[in-house]
Amino acid sequence: MNILVLGAGVIGVTTAWQLNRLGHRVTVLERQPAAAEETSHANAGQISPGYSAPWAAPGIPLKAVKWLLGRHSPLRIDPKPEWDKLRFMARMLAQCTPRAYAVNKDRMLRLAEYSRQALAEVIAETGIEFDHRERGTLQLFRSHKQMHAARADIALLERQGIPHELLTVQGCAQIEPALERVRHKLVGGLFLPLDQTGDCQAFTRGLAERCTAQGVRFLYGIEVRSLIQEAGRLSAVETDAGRFEADACVVAMGSYSTALLRPLGIHSPVYPVKGYSITLPVCDDRAAPLSTLMDETHKVAITRLGDRIRVAGTAELAGFDLRLKPERRATLRHVVGDLFPDAFDGDADDAFWCGLRPMTPDGTPLVGRSPVEGLWLNTGHGTLGWTMSCGSARLLADLISGRQPEIPHEDLTIVRYRRSPADASSANPVIHAPN
Ligand SMILES: Cc1cc2nc3c(=O)[nH]c(=O)nc-3n(C[C@H](O)[C@H](O)[C@H](O)COP(=O)(O)OP(=O)(O)OC[C@H]3O[C@@H](n4cnc5c(N)ncnc54)[C@H](O)[C@@H]3O)c2cc1C
Repeated sequence: MNILVLGAGVIGVTTAWQLNRLGHRVTVLERQPAAAEETSHANAGQISPGYSAPWAAPGIPLKAVKWLLGRHSPLRIDPKPEWDKLRFMARMLAQCTPRAYAVNKDRMLRLAEYSRQALAEVIAETGIEFDHRERGTLQLFRSHKQMHAARADIALLERQGIPHELLTVQGCAQIEPALERVRHKLVGGLFLPLDQTGDCQAFTRGLAERCTAQGVRFLYGIEVRSLIQEAGRLSAVETDAGRFEADACVVAMGSYSTALLRPLGIHSPVYPVKGYSITLPVCDDRAAPLSTLMDETHKVAITRLGDRIRVAGTAELAGFDLRLKPERRATLRHVVGDLFPDAFDGDADDAFWCGLRPMTPDGTPLVGRSPVEGLWLNTGHGTLGWTMSCGSARLLADLISGRQPEIPHEDLTIVRYRRSPADASSANPVIHAPN
């Protein structure tokens, strides 16, 4: 088949790779001059199936109110009323029940674990260099309350058979020796040994090069404007460089997918949740992290990428506003300075960046068919697009090719949002007829 992939972030490029492997002729349309220029550019670098969990969790509504008041808090909501934002928040609140959390986490773990295997195969086939390390994730607790709250996640990890270890402060310092000097600030941690780290942009660009070598066409600097549907079937894509026809089309435009789909009557729940990162050169190897940590208090991730440290966090609900706010940089510098004070030079340039996480209210992406024949979705990966990319791409490529997917997939499609939000986490959603 002739297939168009819209968007060359990590999701679009991995999709192009998997479709090409199955023998399709693939063209990728991307508005930027290169791959991974938007949200896949400088994320936290965690490939973290073990840490895959929805943000919508029991207790979050109360925490969110507290977070809105703190100086270094992980959540910010722009007070300007906006319909999409209000609807996203209402839907997310509906997902904060223990039952919905368990169902959503289960789905996310399934896809993320599958993705881990799919990534291993891509690495073995391509040998792409992307500052890859396989040394696990350490979730750091600064209070006993946080440690206690981790029990619900541990029960789910046990059910899924995902290796994990609850650690004392001593145990944390054995995994990350640089923490020895700040041990008085910690009470323990949860270690997920199978998690990995790597530079998402380097991987995506490396894979785009391999795709090109295999015959995939990348057309950069092209703005996708609309989707053309004829007799219930996708017939073409309208761009600022003319019309492209194809047998099938995959929408992988992250947060921008929602507006593209709306004129076809496809109401995607994906909303942009802004996050920030800084990247610092390591000046003292022994004082720096070896792998990746998640500071549970500030919800900030600190990741070693070669001779750099990436620090990322903050959830800001502010639509498509891409302004860089100095106070977010201050929070990231505060957290990395608090845990790894001697790892970097305080005067070094910190490559301040922001990106829009394409979030669904239940945390699970939209992977699979759309109500329009020939139009497929691979978007809404939110906080875990790097982690889930290779598995989502492989699953979708199998579905488009009429092959039997290797994991259950019916509850990963947009169909789950065609019911009332409170029911959206049903493990076996009712399949409605297409629009
Ligand atoms: C601060 C932060 C930290 C994160 N940390 C992690 C992490 O540690 N681990 C993890 O797994 N995930 C992480 N994520 C999430 C992850 O980065 C995203 O889920 C992932 O990058 C989304 O990839 P994507 O391809 O869907 O979107 P994008 O990378 O944004 O790609 C979409 C592409 O579509 C293109 N596009 C959009 N509109 C158009 C148009 N009209 N015409 C043509 N092209 C268009 C864009 O230019 C872009 O290249 C983080 C995100 C942020 C913001």
